[in-house]
Amino acid sequence: MYEKINFETNGSDVQIIDLRSDTISKPTPEMREAMFNAEVGDDGYGEDPTVALLEQRAAELLGKEDAVFVASGTMANLISIMVHCSQRGCELLCGDNGHTFLLEQAGASQVAGVQQSILKNNPDGTFDLDELRKKIKKGDAFAPISTLIVIENTHNMCGGKVLPLDWVQKVGNIANEYNLKVHMDGARLMNAAVYLKVPPKRVCRDVDTVCFCLSKGLGAPVGSILAGDSEFIAKARRTKKLLGGGWRQAGILAAAGLVALDKMIDRLQIDHDHAYKIAKAIHATKSNIFKVDLAHLHTNILLMYVDHSKVEIRDLQRRLQTVLTTDSVKASVRCTSLNHNCVRFVLYWEIQKEDVDKAIEKITLVIREYDEMFRV
Ligand SMILES: *Cc1c(COP(=O)(O)O)cnc(C)c1O
Repeated sequence: MYEKINFETNGSDVQIIDLRSDTISKPTPEMREAMFNAEVGDDGYGEDPTVALLEQRAAELLGKEDAVFVASGTMANLISIMVHCSQRGCELLCGDNGHTFLLEQAGASQVAGVQQSILKNNPDGTFDLDELRKKIKKGDAFAPISTLIVIENTHNMCGGKVLPLDWVQKVGNIANEYNLKVHMDGARLMNAAVYLKVPPKRVCRDVDTVCFCLSKGLGAPVGSILAGDSEFIAKARRTKKLLGGGWRQAGILAAAGLVALDKMIDRLQIDHDHAYKIAKAIHATKSNIFKVDLAHLHTNILLMYVDHSKVEIRDLQRRLQTVLTTDSVKASVRCTSLNHNCVRFVLYWEIQKEDVDKAIEKITLVIREYDEMFRV
């Protein structure tokens, strides 16, 4: 999915519009300034005031008792799994398109010794709740011990889909019924909150623990937040150290995180609008080869589906990136492929209105080119 493709552009007047991921976003000038001026201490001794402030602010924002600042979303998920599933023989239940299952090197099994039992993800990032009930083991001696349910919001592989609040509540109710915990992998939780027009704490109200990335659409250079009750976070702090995540003057990074919380959440709507604008332009081509699901586009991740009997994804990526001397549009557009039939465009703060317009020109030019090639 994240394999590196570097193709020639043509000439120095070419504008590169990198839509591979919102992780590409760089810290804002205000973040760099805050990092420069950050008050720091040894976080290993709990003495970094900027880290402490970030953790406190993040906990409030998420409506949880406490929070811990960690290196990455992957680390946050792994810590959460290790704390919740501390008994040997545990399993967690998650979607088959989920990040913990597909994109974290099976850390749950490899590091934590936890089995991931998968449920088929619906296109909207949810999974069937009857299937969930059926798959929860009820404690017989042959079965693993069902301990944790992991849900993802927004859902990355499903194209930035926001989980419906009532579905999350139902998951919480089922977890209570069977005495399981729920962890929300909310890497892009703030995008979900902005889409739903609710405070972030509402999005994760019905789950026990939650994490989100400061380093994606929020623009910070490094870091994620993991939140839950005080007892959970105390254990999470221990596990963070175990995984080598104990750090020292991390206030340098936390300072950028604080700017992210103050300045970068509300503006996510701009990224959503930009994604929608690109989607609308693709839709308007009425192409038979390239499709978007305009009606179900929620946030800053746009999937463009490709008729793979006609177009090789790699060729498409190459064409979007390349500027031919004969091209009227001097833009190189980068994207990732999720699988053989779709590419992913992701919006973030550095992609401004002019970049969006330029990207649209390039994408529609390439679409017309393919459509022309297959006209009968
Ligand atoms: C990016 C992402 C993660 C992992 O975050 P990193 O900081 O890249 O480790 C986890 N879950 C989801 C849904 C993500 O999109």
